[in-house]
Order: sequence, then structure tokens, then C-alpha cells
Amino acid sequence: MKYRLELTCPHCQQPALRWWQKLTLWPVNTRLCQQCHRPVTTSLATLFTLLPLASALFFIKDMQHLPLMIMIWLLAVLVALHVQLTLIPLIKKP
Ligand SMILES: [Zn+2]
Repeated sequence: MKYRLELTCPHCQQPALRWWQKLTLWPVNTRLCQQCHRPVTTSLATLFTLLPLASALFFIKDMQHLPLMIMIWLLAVLVALHVQLTLIPLIKKP
């Protein structure tokens, strides 16, 4: 199975950004599509990337075992990055 990144421009249907550029994209900022140079952003669904991070914080807040806390936190960060890169589509800037 191919790891499919959600980087398609809503204007021109071409790859709009590099994957690392999408990681810094939130509903409050925009980037220009590399192909058509029109502005793209992400929807409020980007907030779902905070869910694994908030869950991990809640889960580890009373833990005493630092290596386990770090492992859980890293796992949450990986899940958040995965959600942002593969599930959150780019949208036209309103
Ligand atoms: Zn475009």
C-alpha cells in the first residue's frame, strides 16, 4: 500500500506543497501553491491533529516513568503528523 499524502491543490489539482510545508499549515495561515501560485490553507479539521497530543498529555500527566512518557508522547506526535499529512485536505483560502 502506497503512503498517500494529501497535498493536492484545490485550485489546479496538482501537488501544491512539499510535505514539510504542510506541517506548518494551519487554518490561520496560507501558502501559495507551487504550481498555480494561488493561496491554499487547511480547514478547521486541522484541529483534529491536537486530539492525539491532548490525549497523550492527559494519559501521561500522572506517570512517574519518564522513558514511557517520552515514548507515548513521540507516538502521539507521529499520529498527529500522520493525520495532518494524510487526512486533512488543502482548501482554497476563503
Ligand atoms: Zn494550484
